[in-house]
Amino acid sequence: MFRIGCHISSAGGYLAMGQRAVALGANTLAFFTRNPRGGSAKAADPADARAFLALCSAEDIDLLVAHAPYTMNPCAEKPHVQEFARLAMREDLQRMELTPGQFYNFHPGSHVGQGIPIGIEKIIAVLNESLFPEMTTTVLLETMAGKGSEVGGRFEELRAIIDGVQLQEKLGVCLDTCHVWDAGYDIVNDLDGVLTQFDSIVGLDRLHAVHLNNSKNPIGSHKDRHARITEGELPLQAIARIINHPALRQLPFILETPNDDAGYAEEIRLLKTLKR
Ligand code: FE
Ligand code: FE
Ligand code: ZN
Repeated sequence: MFRIGCHISSAGGYLAMGQRAVALGANTLAFFTRNPRGGSAKAADPADARAFLALCSAEDIDLLVAHAPYTMNPCAEKPHVQEFARLAMREDLQRMELTPGQFYNFHPGSHVGQGIPIGIEKIIAVLNESLFPEMTTTVLLETMAGKGSEVGGRFEELRAIIDGVQLQEKLGVCLDTCHVWDAGYDIVNDLDGVLTQFDSIVGLDRLHAVHLNNSKNPIGSHKDRHARITEGELPLQAIARIINHPALRQLPFILETPNDDAGYAEEIRLLKTLKR
């Protein structure tokens, strides 16, 4: 089963989001749990969530990968920014129970000069205060490009975060292909080697989703600028190897490429033709 989808706006509610996924030919999707650049979350409507789940089961849509807001920085130096991360994550994880058993992905954050070890400690603290034993969601740490003072650009950093969390069974990783490339991992010429490295440091059993993006910049650039699937530094052949790799092929692939609806539908169609 090829799980392919894209980021879909949740502004019109759950059901509208599912309907848009169907229209695009997607069978998985990502959505922001609240305004990605602001803080507020609209009250969720449980009836709307139920209608969405019914649509998902009728249309065979699953492995949803919700995305935390970009403004969430669990390792911020400013206490109020870290406090927002704590509140938002707790609230989001409660809300995720309206769509049980799915994924919630977040950017580990930027340490803004405090250094990686302090950043890691703060991220661990937020996770330990936010995860709860009854939750059915798996929280995913996203692999980052290592732009600025981002934490999570190296697999070792993700490992260190996981090691400090009490409810480790609730944690996983989402691999962003643009980010790992920009971080210096050669997924074009040595995909096997990168995945072997990931396996020995983090463990492939923790890898639950892929953000499938091309990159506007060369390997190791630490830029994080996404390109359309056919338009970046990663050749289409490399993209085809990624979606067909035995360690990845069963995972949900989420496009975060610069596209409108028509562009997403076109990329989804193209990727389906590359799936073996
Ligand atoms: Fe992301
Ligand atoms: Fe991403
Ligand atoms: Zn990115």
